[in-house]
Amino acid sequence: MLLFGWRMRRRVVGPLVPIDCAHCHNAALYDYVEVRKWFTLFFVPLFPMGAAKHYMVCPICNKMLVFKTEQLPLIAGMLDATSVWRLDEMTEADYQSRANAFMDALRAVASRFSVPPQTAAQPGAAS
Ligand SMILES: [Zn+2]
Repeated sequence: MLLFGWRMRRRVVGPLVPIDCAHCHNAALYDYVEVRKWFTLFFVPLFPMGAAKHYMVCPICNKMLVFKTEQLPLIAGMLDATSVWRLDEMTEADYQSRANAFMDALRAVASRFSVPPQTAAQPGAAS
C-alpha cells in the first residue's frame, strides 16, 4: 500500500519588524514566515507543491498578517536591517526610521493591508 498526501509546512525566515500587536497588545518583533504545501509519501515531505504564502506573525500570540504579492519585494531589505540592528550595528534611531519607512511602503503598495501601529523594540527582544 502506498500512503501519500500533503501537509502544510511553516518556515520562520527571521524577525522582521517591531509592532504593537493589535491582537495580544504586546510589543513584539514580528517574524517573517513562509507557509507552503508539501507532497508527502508515508508522511515524509518530499517536495513543495505550488507557491508559498507569506505572512508577518506575532511571536507571542501567533496572529498572522498576510503579505500581498506586491509587498514581497520590500521584505528582504527589512530582514537585513533587523539582523544588522540586532547585532547592535545600527543605532536605535536609524532602525526605527527603517522600520517606519518599511511600514509606510507596505501601506503605500497595498492600502487594504491592515498594518498595526509600531513599537520601539530592543535588540534581542525577539522570540
Ligand atoms: Zn500578538
